Amino acid sequence: MTSNRLVDLPDPSPRAGSGSHAPLPERLTLLYRGPLASCDYNCPYCPFAKRRDSPETLRVDRAALERFTDWVAARAEADPGTRISVLFTPWGEGLVRSWYRRAITRLSGMAHVERVAIQTNLSGRTGWLADCDRTKAALWATYHPGEVAHERFLAKARELTAMGVRFSVGTVGLPEHLDAVRRMRADLPEEVYLWVNAAEGRSYTDAEAALWQAIDPHFHYSRLPHPARGLPCRTGDTVLSVDGEGNVRRCHFVDVPLGNLYDGSFRARLGPSACPLTSCDCHIGYVHLESLDLYEVFRGGVIERVPARWPS
Ligand code: SF4
Ligand code: SF4
Repeated sequence: MTSNRLVDLPDPSPRAGSGSHAPLPERLTLLYRGPLASCDYNCPYCPFAKRRDSPETLRVDRAALERFTDWVAARAEADPGTRISVLFTPWGEGLVRSWYRRAITRLSGMAHVERVAIQTNLSGRTGWLADCDRTKAALWATYHPGEVAHERFLAKARELTAMGVRFSVGTVGLPEHLDAVRRMRADLPEEVYLWVNAAEGRSYTDAEAALWQAIDPHFHYSRLPHPARGLPCRTGDTVLSVDGEGNVRRCHFVDVPLGNLYDGSFRARLGPSACPLTSCDCHIGYVHLESLDLYEVFRGGVIERVPARWPS
């Protein structure tokens, strides 16, 4: 995030009902990030590159994920009016861990879960997705040209396409990766959307931006941080961030606790409210800003970043 400062804004307008029994919205999106912070890749722009988690951290991460999945499962009876989407946004790589694959498989089989997706570098095997409901399980895959051979990543993408898995492919707009990303775009099946994120801290001239825009027609959303202070954002109302201990925040970027998922204390704080930060520069945040049209652009594929009208 860029130069962001919390500002005082009015409290959210809570929904009808009160306390830990306040109702959940009809549709709820949960962005889950547990303690896992290890990765098998070594991207130079990432603090989690080649990091290892201790056996204890992995044990805690696994137990936390299973608890979270159980909570979602229990909503079928406890909150029957609520349909849930889940996006796993681990700091590191989750799909090399069996418990993330199991959680996605299980969640995809729940009638009240609309979509479950995970951010992944796609380094792991894909066969486990055969056991998922592939109308619901989806992947947000990131291509890191310095870490994986073109043919290897492309083969994974083709496997997913053959299995009928919903997924997007994305990359970071670094000039040294431009040729590799162009080549990937050319070789990916046409129906696969390839998105480009502006590199953190980098500004793009119009000419540079045009090169990335030619690859991703939605690059302009990522090029500059979005002014956000005081603007209505769906987070804190129909979108929530949850950590491994069940602490609920409106999004990953506003570090103000709303309560805990497991004791229900977050419920009383839910409701429409404005963003308290100066700007929002991460897609998993600004996609929920009501002042942008991104729910329409990504209708039916908001959490896995698949546009509604693609490739048309
Ligand atoms: S694949 Fe993702 S988590 Fe892993 S090192 Fe690269 S950017 Fe970091
Ligand atoms: S996700 Fe919403 S509340 Fe969070 S920083 Fe972005 S605009 Fe603000």
